[in-house]
Amino acid sequence: MRVTIAQGRLVNDIVFEEIKKFLLGTIETKGKRIKPVLTFNFIPNQDDQDEEFDVQLIDEEIRKIRFEEKVDKSNTGKQFDYFFNQGLEIRQTHSIPKDELIVLLTGERNNRNFLGYIDDSMLNSFVYTNGWNRIYSNNVDSIFPIIYEIYCWILRANMFDNSTDLYHAVHKDNEGCAMDFCEDLRDHRQKSRSNDICETCNDILITREFREDIKQYIYNSLDKVRHSILRRNNGRTIVTDIELKYINGTKKFTIPNYNDYVIEFPPQEKTVYYFFLIHPEGLSYKEIHNFREVLYEIYNEFSIRDDLGSTEEIINRMIGFNQNQIYPGTKNFSGVVNEINLKLKAVFIPEVIDSYLLKSRKGKYSILLDRDLFIDNSGIIL
Ligand SMILES: [Zn+2]
Repeated sequence: MRVTIAQGRLVNDIVFEEIKKFLLGTIETKGKRIKPVLTFNFIPNQDDQDEEFDVQLIDEEIRKIRFEEKVDKSNTGKQFDYFFNQGLEIRQTHSIPKDELIVLLTGERNNRNFLGYIDDSMLNSFVYTNGWNRIYSNNVDSIFPIIYEIYCWILRANMFDNSTDLYHAVHKDNEGCAMDFCEDLRDHRQKSRSNDICETCNDILITREFREDIKQYIYNSLDKVRHSILRRNNGRTIVTDIELKYINGTKKFTIPNYNDYVIEFPPQEKTVYYFFLIHPEGLSYKEIHNFREVLYEIYNEFSIRDDLGSTEEIINRMIGFNQNQIYPGTKNFSGVVNEINLKLKAVFIPEVIDSYLLKSRKGKYSILLDRDLFIDNSGIIL
């Protein structure tokens, strides 16, 4: 079985080459050559090579695609037929056999915000190649979800007689199956990570006598895609900036190079982290007490109305400043520091994590981070 992968308009050459490399690479694992039951034919796009193009995002924000939605409101995308016609043209120009599946990769948006679709012949499909960075973190190279979709189209093309049947058979609820519709585009992460074909869908393939060796080959390949996605997702990021800025009216720490990831610090954690970011010299636990007023001020910058108790009380409790009272237990300084570090460890890879952690070093709590990597867009003036 052969499948043609065509590089359509606005598909980056590097992306196309990397996809090609991956698809060809699956033929070999651990030096052992697996019989290529599925082969690929690649057609690069020579038309718009010199054209400058911006990456077209699905939208400013990920928007939900409505299952029944026919045309998106902005009406900026191309109609499906536009892509299908390109497929037909490619088939003719390159004499692709009429029973061979074509997957057109395209950087052009469609008017229904689909990640891809197929025409009624079930042999002419397209996959949208941009916008994946809105769904996956920057660490996931967008070639993997695209490759995932390519394999899925090979399966789907062989499961149904026409695209209407397909449309009705896709799972509207997310079942972690390759046939999930993913109305909310972000759900694509779930299905690519679970990488499963549900029993119902598998049964369809069996009923339709889809070749078992090809099916196994695709399942194995999907597994390889999944590993690539997981590895990067687990993934944590390398060295990068931390930015403090307003999001929805509150000040949040984000990581701009990590898909604007928001570090979910509650006000106390924000206060402590910010405090030490502006104190690169480090302070001992005892010395912190001398900065109570500063801490109150910072806390007021971060607190939300629902916070229980007065600023002074919350901060005093946290730093154990007790004015002859004992503030025990929860939400104390070391608890807050622990929480901060746990959250950071979920983001940064082990090789760099130490610069981001708030730790006691030689008796002084400090954050080693190169302060050039801290961008303060919060407008906090102390
Ligand atoms: Zn299924």
